[in-house]
Amino acid sequence: MKNVGITTTVPIEVLIAGGYRPLDLNNLFVGDPHPEELVSMAEKKGFPQTSCTWIKGVYGACHKYALDTILYVMHGDCSGSLELAEVLRSEGKNCISFSYPDFPHLGRMQEQLENLASALGTSLKEAERVRRKILPYRVLSRKLDELTWKEDLVSSWENHFFLVSTSDFEGNFQAYRRKACGLIAGCGKRRPYPPSFIRLGYIGVPPIFARSLYHFLERKGARVVFNELQYQFSMPSPGGCLAQQYIDYTYPYSSSYRLRSILLELRKRKAQGVIHYVQSFCHRQISDIVFRKEIDLPILTLEGNTNYTLDQQAMTKVEAFIDMIRRRGK
Ligand code: SF4
Repeated sequence: MKNVGITTTVPIEVLIAGGYRPLDLNNLFVGDPHPEELVSMAEKKGFPQTSCTWIKGVYGACHKYALDTILYVMHGDCSGSLELAEVLRSEGKNCISFSYPDFPHLGRMQEQLENLASALGTSLKEAERVRRKILPYRVLSRKLDELTWKEDLVSSWENHFFLVSTSDFEGNFQAYRRKACGLIAGCGKRRPYPPSFIRLGYIGVPPIFARSLYHFLERKGARVVFNELQYQFSMPSPGGCLAQQYIDYTYPYSSSYRLRSILLELRKRKAQGVIHYVQSFCHRQISDIVFRKEIDLPILTLEGNTNYTLDQQAMTKVEAFIDMIRRRGK
């Protein structure tokens, strides 16, 4: 299979059916031992300091991991992806586009999937076959999610990691399955988190300082029981066909569409507060207005830029937020 870099969660079933092995450039970037070097590659190329770190990291990852074919999302992800694709194209990379429909509509999604399948020289029938093969891996990720919020056995970081990895299953389905099954089996020997732990929801794009944030929260007696987008990446509502699966996936659509699922999950998981992560220079920061209006829980808006670990100021904000929820509960 030929490697293809993906700039966000896309219908990987179609890529695999076309003979490609999808690798999520965001995961390669943030999992790299030196993410700052990937960002610096982009800045040397001319990406401004005032552009999103994820975009720059994705650019750097394309080069570091020598990916010649990139699938980017023209509509339904990030306005920066278009410019990114232009730069990559000018450097000789083969950039293929995919567009989510303006709003979740079965017929329009079907059309977009057919366009993608034909661009990759495959068919939706083949992609459906791949979908059925992948479903058990998606089920595993959701089992881990349930072990997080229902059984209180899986940590915030583990929940984030196993869900965020479902965008590409780390490029190796068998290795993902082995790791997930190992964790599920290990849960049998764990003690649940005590009820004194504050239960939090996390909404917004995955944090640039994920490991540091989740570990810090748990040291302070709070845990994330709902990672919104990471949960969405796992395709929690697979529906009856590929088109249905990708219109039930909320990220490409409006904040109000995302909110329906957010509110439901926060209630179901008994969240006591919400962290809304925003990335510096990202247009999605504006969604904070809608979320603050509609979510009836304390919200902390936390901004990240190029700090791959929580800085002192962020730690103070997070700690004060947890204390406030704790006092509220007494
Ligand atoms: S964080 Fe925002 S600006 Fe950055 S890549 Fe994601 S959607 Fe685009």
